[in-house]
Amino acid sequence: MIQITGIRLPFDHSDAELQAAVIKKLNIPQQDLLSLSIARKSFDARRKGTIRCDYTIHADVSDEQGVLKKLANDQQVRVAPDTDYVRLTRKRKSIPYRPLVIGTGPAGLFAGLILAEAGYSPVLVDRGKPVRERTKDVYDFWKDCVLNTESNVQFGEGGAGTFSDGKLQTRVKDRANRDKKILEELVSAGAPEEILYDYKPHIGTAKLVTVIENLRKKIIGLGGEYRFQNRVEELILDRDRIRGVVLHGGEEIRSDHVILAIGHSARDTFEMLYRQGVSLEAKPFSIGLRIEHPQSLIDQNQYGQAAGHPRLGAANYQLAHHSSSGRTVYSFCMCPGGSVIAAASERGTVVTNGMSQYARLEINANSAIVAEVSPADFGRNPLDGIRFQRLWEKKAYVQGGENYYAPCQRLEDFLRGKSTKSLGTVMPSYKPGITLTNLQECLPPYVVDTLCEALPEFEKKIERFTLADALLTGVETRTSSPVRILRGKDFQSLSVRGLYPAGEGSGYAGGILSSAMDGIKAAEAMISSIQEEF
Ligand SMILES: Cc1cc2nc3c(=O)[nH]c(=O)nc-3n(C[C@H](O)[C@H](O)[C@H](O)COP(=O)(O)OP(=O)(O)OC[C@H]3O[C@@H](n4cnc5c(N)ncnc54)[C@H](O)[C@@H]3O)c2cc1C
Repeated sequence: MIQITGIRLPFDHSDAELQAAVIKKLNIPQQDLLSLSIARKSFDARRKGTIRCDYTIHADVSDEQGVLKKLANDQQVRVAPDTDYVRLTRKRKSIPYRPLVIGTGPAGLFAGLILAEAGYSPVLVDRGKPVRERTKDVYDFWKDCVLNTESNVQFGEGGAGTFSDGKLQTRVKDRANRDKKILEELVSAGAPEEILYDYKPHIGTAKLVTVIENLRKKIIGLGGEYRFQNRVEELILDRDRIRGVVLHGGEEIRSDHVILAIGHSARDTFEMLYRQGVSLEAKPFSIGLRIEHPQSLIDQNQYGQAAGHPRLGAANYQLAHHSSSGRTVYSFCMCPGGSVIAAASERGTVVTNGMSQYARLEINANSAIVAEVSPADFGRNPLDGIRFQRLWEKKAYVQGGENYYAPCQRLEDFLRGKSTKSLGTVMPSYKPGITLTNLQECLPPYVVDTLCEALPEFEKKIERFTLADALLTGVETRTSSPVRILRGKDFQSLSVRGLYPAGEGSGYAGGILSSAMDGIKAAEAMISSIQEEF
């Protein structure tokens, strides 16, 4: 297979034009091109008048050696790199108890899959419900304001990213191609095929539900077992070794090999780990507000006259500003054509986040605009970050009217520090509803100051970003874990052997793809340790 980079075409080109560009680049007759596949596709919209598509193509040709020899000096043509996941091929060892995976978010799911593929028949435990039942609880909360603290946007099968845009980007480069393995598994479970090559792939909420169910079927088919509505409440420890866990209700599950993939919101579980002496530390994260603009404003900015073209879809943005206080403010989890959602998991708190469906057709664009905070702001005890998050989430709950409505404000009013009395041209997408107020009451003053400095700066990158009627909704506090569960190079907890913290909750990963990759690495490390031990 030959890899060709640097194929650039107008964004609205045809398939025939793509094929012609490949043939021209390889300088071969048409019949010598046996097949081609897209390895990477991205849009270059820096010059709005001439938006381009950039491709990396894999081509099968009849005389590969001849073509490579002829184009030996062309840096854009070479043998395609091997992108297959390097599987663990060592023989399964017999162990007294099955490995246990706590959490069925991306990290737990993919750890479970790797263990199941290696023949270890893992048991996957989750405090929440199977994804379809969970979906009903989430939509009921958004409709009737009744929060189920065990089945919500944060907890249940699929984990925190289930009600999301399903963005699958990561900056982590993985030599073992774990990212490719994850994307291929997602596609064979029902995700759209273009996630394999899109520069900014995403799945969307409705499709994610089916994908998660199909992955569950695969894991069970390979010998795995799922236990839903089973919260782990205690670790069974024998000095510095894990021997199992105690579930809510008192049942014990014995295991000497436990993956702990609990996500960033399992505050009671972090408290339990702290009580039981598991090594933890407080870690920085970011807090702020969700901003909503008309999607058409963002499209116009990013795509100019081509805005609205179906090939381009809803445009996104990524912004960052290094403020005079030293804190970075940045846009986080941008959801083109999406909605702001209620993402609380604790009673008496309001937490915002964002989601989109695959088509990204909603009228507003949203993203979180957040500022970095660190233990220097909230304290160095491992649980101080959680206390800090809770404080601002409770303030937002009170400010919203104590009924899970979110406090909301026009951007112009936020910058002036005065309460909003009525909405302008932008309508809020947040369900169950919003209360117009002054959001400056819901954040620490140093975060308010930093946001007020950064927002006008963003205007320099996106015209009309500070549209007076743009809406802010708050508070956004769950950007990443406030706690790190310390682990060594062997992925095991520094204080408890056999315990493998993984994913977002471990503090070593963030986002769907990077958490899933971290889950795979933890499972691989567990398998290697079993090989050495038994
Ligand atoms: C609304 C929303 C939108 C998001 N959008 C995106 C996006 O578009 N792209 C992206 O990359 N990232 C997104 N994220 C972040 C992403 O979802 C997380 O980074 C990712 O889910 C972390 O995976 P994880 O498996 O480590 O943890 P989680 O997905 O949080 O999963 C943890 C699991 O552990 C279970 N659990 C917790 N405690 C216990 C216990 N004591 N016993 C048993 N089970 C327990 C929970 O029920 C949960 O299922 C979004 C997050 C949210 C909330």
